[in-house]
Amino acid sequence: MDWKKHALIIAIAIGFILGLITGLSAGKAASVLKPLGDLFIRLMRMIVTPLVIITITAAIAQIVDLRRLGKLIIGMFIIFIFLSALGASIMLWAALAFGPGVGVGLSPPPGYTPPTPPSVVDLILGVIPFDFVDIFSVAGLLKAIFFSIVLGLAISLAGEKGKPIARALQYLSEVILKVVMLVMWVAPIGVFGYAAWLMGTYGTGILVAYGKLITLDYSVSLAFFFIVYTIVVALSKRNPIVYWKNIIEPALVAFTTRSSAVTLPVNIRAAQRIGIPDYVTSLVLPVGATCHMDGTAMYQVLCAVFIAQAFGITLDPSLFGTIIVVGTLAAVATAAIPGGGLLMLATTVAAAGLPLEGIALIVAIDPILDMLRTMINASGDVAVATVMARVLEGPKWFLKSS
Ligand code: ASP
Repeated sequence: MDWKKHALIIAIAIGFILGLITGLSAGKAASVLKPLGDLFIRLMRMIVTPLVIITITAAIAQIVDLRRLGKLIIGMFIIFIFLSALGASIMLWAALAFGPGVGVGLSPPPGYTPPTPPSVVDLILGVIPFDFVDIFSVAGLLKAIFFSIVLGLAISLAGEKGKPIARALQYLSEVILKVVMLVMWVAPIGVFGYAAWLMGTYGTGILVAYGKLITLDYSVSLAFFFIVYTIVVALSKRNPIVYWKNIIEPALVAFTTRSSAVTLPVNIRAAQRIGIPDYVTSLVLPVGATCHMDGTAMYQVLCAVFIAQAFGITLDPSLFGTIIVVGTLAAVATAAIPGGGLLMLATTVAAAGLPLEGIALIVAIDPILDMLRTMINASGDVAVATVMARVLEGPKWFLKSS
């Protein structure tokens, strides 16, 4: 075994395990270690917006053949939406069958009337920056992606004059990935701090109160994670073992940082190790980090059903389709930050005509659910990237990789 090559992942895994042990034994006192995690998150947040803007623009500007670009973007979105809707449907079935919220016995607030959910038009318009500065914050990543796609396209359309800019962007991509490499060495410390804090704060007590919800979420989501992504990678004609081996590092980072945006740089490294071509990686992973969240789609549906059951509200079967569609769209619109899905839960809960007060039930345990859904969100992007590599490159991408 090449220890040098694996030093970082070993250090991250050790940090994670030590963090769990520290959190379990120190309890709430372990929250003093949280700033270590915050330090890592800040460094990652610092680079994520320039990383997204530079890599996406560079990737699109490089593709001279616009038909190929169209194929990549359309194919990618079809797979993203299909996988999220599949996850949401499976979770809806499981939540109805196992009834995690049945018997909680809350009553809806007096005079309760369901609020109007934001329209699909509002959700779509939200992708376009209102002001140019909107693209510079982590919460505005979707807007940054939109701008980068338009800019990249313009560079490509500019022909000869655009070429030097495309080349400069490629060099810039290399530079920004070097920054990622430097920051990654702080990851083991950050993962340690967060693992200790989460375990210390949400340890055994909380697991009893919300046991059913968490158990259902974890079992269904993990089954989806292992089965569906293995099938997706197998469809790309790649050995799924190569995928699983390389996904451990981003999965651990996603699980502890609870942010797909923060995990993006680590995901890019994993995709490079798998041998996915750079132009596929630099489009599918940043766009996927913001728009493709299978874990979040499943979470939206599960929480909506849990809230209905907790309030003793019977969901009319005519609402099932709405819950799946809105849950999937809410996941697309979710910001890739910790708790982003919790903010969007209002959309799904409102669309299902349920009391928004139910969201308070979820808040306490959201970080525990967020860890898993973020891990699935981030890992799913690499799985889709393997398929897109296969679609665009044919069988030859397989030969390029180790
Ligand atoms: N934390 C999730 C992510 O970054 C988003 C969510 O809260 O659902 O992928």
